[in-house]
Amino acid sequence: MKIELSDSARKWAAVAREYADEYLQPHEVEAELNDGVLPTEITGRNKARALELGFAAIDVPAKYGGLELPIEEQVAIWEQLGRVTNALSWCFSEPQSWMFEACSEDQIDRYILPMMRGELKDCYAITESGPGSDVAGLEATATRDGDDYVLNGEKWYVTSGNLADFIWFQARVPGEDDDALFLVDQGSAGIETLATPKFSHTYAAHHPTYRFDNVCVPAAQRVGQAGAGMAYTHSWFRHERLMIGARSCGAAARLIEEAKAFAEGRIVDGAPLTGKQAIQFMLADSATELWASRLMTYEAARAADRGENLKLQHSRCSMVKLYVSEMANRVADRAVQIFGGRGYMRENVAERFFRELRVDRIWEGTSEIQRIIIARALMKRGLDGM
Ligand SMILES: Cc1cc2nc3c(=O)[nH]c(=O)nc-3n(C[C@H](O)[C@H](O)[C@H](O)COP(=O)(O)OP(=O)(O)OC[C@H]3O[C@@H](n4cnc5c(N)ncnc54)[C@H](O)[C@@H]3O)c2cc1C
Repeated sequence: MKIELSDSARKWAAVAREYADEYLQPHEVEAELNDGVLPTEITGRNKARALELGFAAIDVPAKYGGLELPIEEQVAIWEQLGRVTNALSWCFSEPQSWMFEACSEDQIDRYILPMMRGELKDCYAITESGPGSDVAGLEATATRDGDDYVLNGEKWYVTSGNLADFIWFQARVPGEDDDALFLVDQGSAGIETLATPKFSHTYAAHHPTYRFDNVCVPAAQRVGQAGAGMAYTHSWFRHERLMIGARSCGAAARLIEEAKAFAEGRIVDGAPLTGKQAIQFMLADSATELWASRLMTYEAARAADRGENLKLQHSRCSMVKLYVSEMANRVADRAVQIFGGRGYMRENVAERFFRELRVDRIWEGTSEIQRIIIARALMKRGLDGM
């Protein structure tokens, strides 16, 4: 399925595809059957190759030694990495461009550049059990105490918490209107792991729940200006939502290819399953929805590259996240159906994606929250302002 991409986006897509096919995909079943964990020599090799290819530097400004790729090219990379299950592509950290605007030079040196070099890994703690989807209503607090801040609160489902070296911690500062963001070293005194729940997918990265009990951090660990804390998290959301779109496109493409290949070889009533219209229709719907998804994902990426209005970008990233994540879930469901009983085995890519893609409708803002964002934009600015 061809859509118009820049020459460099095509080049990056080929590089990422080769990496996904040769380094990651062959280890999916091994990871699935081993709690998501691969031997350290394999993860080390995969990480080293990802760093060598520059994947950790794609969103890093050139002045800091990064590649500063257009978002279209970043989407092209993440689309291909999305073809792989068990989050095997999470073997490297990826600093985002907004971090270089938000962080002080000292924070960039101590936290962000080491991420690019593969020396440190981060995790992002926003969600709390009470406010949940309502990120404007966070209850965790950061209270100024001389040269320090004292952090208190509970953070749920912090992805990669078990592997991370530091935590982005979002909290309310009493007396200030907006939330603030802090860099907190993992293992700081007062951080307690309350639970490490098991989730549907089989990933080496866990999603623990933490209690912060009077965790004391120097004021220099606060990120950016007062009043801008939520703006940084919105930048994070836009980036993640668009890349969920990219990865979902890659996952759907692989599912369609694998289901089609299976149906071509599966003989039913003396003929390939692909001859059955019921199967053809499932594949046709999937291909059509994937095409629409790819068009909207790449157009949203190009809008970001054109520097279009941030509010417009925000609602478009929500539309991408909503439509494309739901599309990939439909495709995974059809793929399981086409594989029949074989599609229910954990060794089967359709079964794994069927479980793994489900969370893309929940994290980084549920589908309902995306609809709320889109509806608000429509009510405020009308169709021409979206
Ligand atoms: C595997 C996993 C990893 C995660 N990783 C992270 C992480 O790294 N960092 C982090 O901070 N969070 C993380 N999360 C949390 C995730 O972002 C939240 O689960 C998600 O935002 C939903 O919040 P909630 O679970 O509290 O659901 P709730 O807010 O309780 O929502 C429950 C249901 O109500 C709906 N709902 C809520 N509000 C409204 C409304 N106003 N109108 C209509 N419907 C509404 C929701 O859409 C949902 O269907 C992770 C979650 C999972 C499952």
